[in-house]
Amino acid sequence: MGRIRILPETVANKIAAGEVVERPSSVVKELLENSLDAGASHIRLEVAAGGKQKIHAVDDGCGMGRDDALLAFERHATSKLRSAEDLLSISTMGFRGEALPSLGAVSRLTMETRSQQETSGTRLEIAGGRMLSVQEAGLPAGTAITVSDLFYNIPARRKFLRTEATELSHITSVVTHYSLAYPEIAFQLRTLSGELVNTPAVDSLRERVFQLFGEELLEQLVQFGPLAAESFSPFPNSGEAQIKKLENKEPPSELQSMRLSGFLSRPQIQKLNRNSIYTFVNRRLIRDRVLLHAIQEAYHNILPRHSFPVALLFLEMPYEEVDVNVHPSKVEVRFRHQALVHNLVRDALRECLTAAKPVSTFPAGASQAPEPPRGPSHSEQVRDAVPVAAAGFYLTQPELPPQAQAFRFEPGPAAAEPRMEGSAACSVAPIPEGPSANVPPAAFGSELAELRPLGQIQESFIVAASPSGLWLIDQHVAHERVLFEKFLTQRESGTVECQRLLMPYVLRLNAAQQAVWDRIHSELESAGFEVEPFGQNTVAVKAAPGGVKADDVEKLLLELVESIEEERRAFSPEVVRHKIAASVACHAAIKVNMPLEQRKMEWLLSELAATQFPMSCPHGRPVVLKYGMREILKAFHRI
Ligand code: ADP
Ligand code: MG
Repeated sequence: MGRIRILPETVANKIAAGEVVERPSSVVKELLENSLDAGASHIRLEVAAGGKQKIHAVDDGCGMGRDDALLAFERHATSKLRSAEDLLSISTMGFRGEALPSLGAVSRLTMETRSQQETSGTRLEIAGGRMLSVQEAGLPAGTAITVSDLFYNIPARRKFLRTEATELSHITSVVTHYSLAYPEIAFQLRTLSGELVNTPAVDSLRERVFQLFGEELLEQLVQFGPLAAESFSPFPNSGEAQIKKLENKEPPSELQSMRLSGFLSRPQIQKLNRNSIYTFVNRRLIRDRVLLHAIQEAYHNILPRHSFPVALLFLEMPYEEVDVNVHPSKVEVRFRHQALVHNLVRDALRECLTAAKPVSTFPAGASQAPEPPRGPSHSEQVRDAVPVAAAGFYLTQPELPPQAQAFRFEPGPAAAEPRMEGSAACSVAPIPEGPSANVPPAAFGSELAELRPLGQIQESFIVAASPSGLWLIDQHVAHERVLFEKFLTQRESGTVECQRLLMPYVLRLNAAQQAVWDRIHSELESAGFEVEPFGQNTVAVKAAPGGVKADDVEKLLLELVESIEEERRAFSPEVVRHKIAASVACHAAIKVNMPLEQRKMEWLLSELAATQFPMSCPHGRPVVLKYGMREILKAFHRI
C-alpha cells in the first residue's frame, strides 16, 4: 500500500486554522468581517480573558437558514464567490470559506442564526471540528457566534498566547480599525469589567475619529480628501522639486477612479514605529509596504529620520486593481500598478501636508506642574514613547485600555524636568490647539507673515505676537528652512551662487569615504562645490556655495559623507541633492545665541512665511511653536 493518504477533514481544518487563526484578535477579525459582509448595521462583541476564554459576536445582518448554517462549516463553503473569475474582483471581506470551519476546529463554538425571511432560527454547537448538536430555536434575526476556549485542543498553540491584557489590546485594535473603516455602522466591544469601544453610527469619518480618539487627537490631525487620482495636481516648481509627478503625468484610465482620503498628523507627532499608520484599501484593513513607504516619503524632510506619523489612509480603487488573495488572513494585498499607486499616494499626501502647513503648537496650562509617572504600566508606556520634538513631551501608546488611550498624550519624564536643549523644551501638560485642520494655506501663510517680533529669548528664539496668539520661532532652524528651499530652487535652475576659497582645502578620505565621494561627486559640483582629485584618496576643494564660511567647508563635507556612509544604502540623486541642501542650509544659517535686530527678525519671519514648509526644518525639527488664544484665555481662567 502506498504511503500517501488524504488527511481527514478535521485534520485539514486544523491545519487551515493555523494560517487563519493566530490569536483571539484573528477570531474577532473573521467574525467582524462576516458580520460586515452580512450587511449588519450593529455589531456587538463581548470578550472574556482577552478572548482566550470567550469571544461573543452578535450582529443584525442577513443571518442564515438551516442549510446554510450547516454548510458554512464545510471547508471552502462560501456564499461570496462562485467562479475563478470572481476572484479577480472581490468586493466582500471574506471569500475563501475558511474562517468558520477553522474556528470550529480549534475551539468550542456555538452559532445562533436566523435569516430575515424565516420565522425560526438554528442553533448549532461544534467542538474541535465535530458537530455536537443542531436545533431549531426561536431567535432574533441576525447571527450570534460564541467562540470559547480557543486552542483548547492544540495546547502548543495555546501556550503561545500572550497575557490577557496583550490579547485584549490586539482585539481592541482590530475593532478600532473596522470602526474607523465603517463610520455608518455601530460597533461595541465589552469585557466583563467595562466597555472599550462604543461607537454609534455617524455620518462622517471625522465624527468617528472623534468618537474613538477624542478632540485632542483630532486637533493634531489634518484631514484630507476625498481626492480623485485624475485631479492630483502636479507640484509647483519649488524647492521640493523631487516630489514631482510621474513623467507620463496622467494615471492610466483604470486608476483614474482611485480616491484617497483620511487624516495625517502634524509634524510634532513623532512615533517610534509604524503602529499608528492605518491603511485601508476598499475599506479593508491592510498592511502594505508600498503604501507605508509612500507615506514615509510624503513626510520626508518634515519628520526626522526614524520617526513616523499617525496616518489614516483610505484608498478606494476598482476591485480588479488590487489582488486580496495573496495571504490567508487577507492582510496583504498586491496592486496591479504598484509603482503608480505608490507615487500617486506619495504626491497626494505631500500636497496635503504642504497645503495644510501644519504648525507645532505650544502645550497649554504652563502653570500646572506635570504629574509624575504613575503605576506599573508606565514603564510599558515609556518603552513605546517618543519625546515629541522640542516640546519635552512623551507621546505614548499604552496597552490598556488600548482603544481609549491609543493616541493619548502623557507628560513623560522629560516633562518632569524642564530643560532647554537645542530648541525649546516646555514642561507642561499638553492640550494642543492649532489652526484648525481646514485653515486655508494662504491664511496660515499670511498669518506668519503678519507676525510682530517682540524680542528674543536667550538670543536664540524669537518671540512674536499675532491676533491669534503668541509664537516662538527657533531662529536657527527657521533660517535653515529658508535657505534649504532657496538652495534647492537655485540648484534646479542651475543658479547656485558659488564662492572661491582663498586657499584650497585639502580633504583626506578613507577608502569607504572615497567610495561615497565618487557617488556624490557630480552632485556636489552642481551644488556649487569645486573639487579636484589631489592624489590618492585626497581631494582639493576650491570653491563652495555662497553663505558657507570657509572654515565650515571641511566640516560640512565630512559630515555629509559620513551621514551618507552611515546609512549604507543607495540613494537616488534627489536624496543626495536634499542632503547636500540640508547641510549647506545648516552651516549657512543664523546660529543660536546670536542677537538679532528688529529688522532682521522681521525679515526672517517674512522669508519663513514664504517657504513651502515653514513648520519644520529639513531635518524634521519644528520651527514654530504657537500658544493659541484659546489656551491663553484658558490659562488665565477667562474661559
Ligand atoms: P467566507 O467569509 O470566506 O465566505 P466564512 O467561513 O467566514 O467564509 O463564512 C462562510 C459563510 O457563512 C459565508 O460565506 C456566509 O455566507 C456565512 N456567514 C458567516 N458568518 C455570517 C454572518 N455573521 N451572517 C450571515 N452569514 C454568515
Ligand atoms: Mg469570512
